[in-house]
Amino acid sequence: MVHNKNIYYRFIVSLLFFSVCITLLSVYLVDHHSKRAMATSMAENTAFQQRSAIYATQAFAVSSARAVNTLWESEELRRYIRTGSASSLAETENLMRNLLKMSFSYYRIELIDDRDQPLSSFYRVAGDNIVRNLSTHQRTYSFSAAMPTNNYGVWFSDLTLSNDSVVSESFYMVSVSKPVYREDELFGHVVLYLNMDFLVNVLTNNGNLDTYLVNDSGTILASSKAFGLKNSPHQPGSFRDVYGIENIQSTESLTEQGFSALNLINLPMSDGITLISHAATDFLEQREEEETSLLINISLTVMIFSVVSGILIAINPSRLVKKLENVTKERTRYMKMLDQYVPLVETDTNGSITRLSQAFLNISGYREEDLVGEPVSVLSFDKGNDKLEEVFDTLSSGLPWQGEFHNRTRRGEEFWLFSTVVPLYENEKDLVGYMSISVDKTEKKHLEVIAEMDSLTEIYNRRKIDNCLQQEYERSKRYGSLFSVLMIDVDYFKNVNDKYGHFVGDKVLHRLAILLNENTRTVDEVGRWGGEEFLVVCPETELKDAVTVAENLRKVVELHEFPEVGHITISIGIEVFKPEQGLKQTLEQADYYLYQAKKQGRNRVVSRLPQAKTLQEA
Ligand code: GH3
Ligand code: MG
Ligand code: MG
Repeated sequence: MVHNKNIYYRFIVSLLFFSVCITLLSVYLVDHHSKRAMATSMAENTAFQQRSAIYATQAFAVSSARAVNTLWESEELRRYIRTGSASSLAETENLMRNLLKMSFSYYRIELIDDRDQPLSSFYRVAGDNIVRNLSTHQRTYSFSAAMPTNNYGVWFSDLTLSNDSVVSESFYMVSVSKPVYREDELFGHVVLYLNMDFLVNVLTNNGNLDTYLVNDSGTILASSKAFGLKNSPHQPGSFRDVYGIENIQSTESLTEQGFSALNLINLPMSDGITLISHAATDFLEQREEEETSLLINISLTVMIFSVVSGILIAINPSRLVKKLENVTKERTRYMKMLDQYVPLVETDTNGSITRLSQAFLNISGYREEDLVGEPVSVLSFDKGNDKLEEVFDTLSSGLPWQGEFHNRTRRGEEFWLFSTVVPLYENEKDLVGYMSISVDKTEKKHLEVIAEMDSLTEIYNRRKIDNCLQQEYERSKRYGSLFSVLMIDVDYFKNVNDKYGHFVGDKVLHRLAILLNENTRTVDEVGRWGGEEFLVVCPETELKDAVTVAENLRKVVELHEFPEVGHITISIGIEVFKPEQGLKQTLEQADYYLYQAKKQGRNRVVSRLPQAKTLQEA
């Protein structure tokens, strides 16, 4: 039996299960979708960053080359080289100052001689403040005397940390230079020094990407991450050490690890620079956090929804279950009552007992195990009785059967049931057996027997024998059958009473009744007509046969030795009933012949047949 509360649990559990499935699906979809969105956004970011890098480096290279070329081509410098005059130097220096002012990233401009000694040198100090200072710039490289062959017409140094003694702070720097000749002889160099921090920032700063500027030898020059040159102290790191990528020139090995690479060819340095980037770990972590909280929200929403829906959905079924429970309870109560008070027997189609009610067991005195599996005929009182055949005939024609069963208890006593036997169907069409529903008629049956019995002689009383006569009369009228009546009177019975007393007389009557009963056919009905007179009704019996029966009775009695009394005799008057005759008339006739028998000397049988014949036949 499903308990009411269980319904709620079941619905909630089912929906929770369902919701877990939905949640897992959502997790998968959200994850899948966000990964794709992320990949797209990263690709866009990278593309944007790389485009910016191309423009920025190009702008840097073009503008710095223009500044150097402007000085290199200038009239002022040409004249100074030719004349070496103080005025031409002053004019050249004036141009140098103006060129240095052109960009915040230009921090020093120099004119050096062929031994790298400064002929003139200007520094940018705090904003637009330009200072002349001839102190020597410490360099780890030397300027090329060859004329530049690249598109820009200038030489670019590699990107390094500044080691300028005048400018104390540390920053990335690049020098842009071009040799100056006097006729065919090297005069010196024009050099522009650039603070590259701004450009490096532009190249490496992108909130969503981790970026590295790596030179061809695999050194991380700058990075948005907390290692490498960009961070204080500026310490170069090795990209290989950090990521284990041997050859950063190989785009394949980079993409394998999720990196995008761009060779910054716009910076024509001898040690080339590659911009490498991939999705920023911080950014990824943040995205992951966002995704997780989104998934938690989805899960919670779905679960709350499931629980609430589960409860709501369960309301109706749980009401139904409650109703069903009540109905079942009621049914169980009725079933119990039926079991306790109504004798029920179920059989299979072959008539073997399959089930019995407690009431039946109580009446019959059997235990269930005595009867289950036995044929139902074991219950019959009269074994040879063909009533059950009649029952099964009726049932097999599809009709219910109703009638009386005369049964035997376990101890051999009789009991009567008035039963209705109905076929049992499964699925409303397959016959599976029969069920008899009965009312116990035993008590009534006993009362009936008592009501029909003469208490002294224990054979039918006057009322019952009257009934028998009436029945035979009706039958005779309907079917034209005949029957005979034997009117019997004990001869000189008064004497018995007188001689032995009334009590002995009674015993003689009882004994006589037994004799009469035993010596007639079952179909003949023997009753006490009154006093010491008896009546026998013989159905379907012609007069001559009735005479035979009577003569036999007469002889049996005559020969019987009654205890205490010895021998007695009886006289018998017989008449046959025919449909055209009345019942009363028939009885009167029988009585008349009895009277004749008495008159003729008693101990004889008299009817309308000649007596001689009767005697002869006897
Ligand atoms: P008969 O019939 O041969 O003419 O003589 P009878 O002595 O039998 O005469 P009758 O039939 O007139 O008398 C019947 C007697 O039977 C009367 C009564 O004492 C006796 N009797 C009737 N009913 C009973 C009874 O129930 N018990 C006893 N003990 N005697 C009865
Ligand atoms: Mg009499
Ligand atoms: Mg008599």
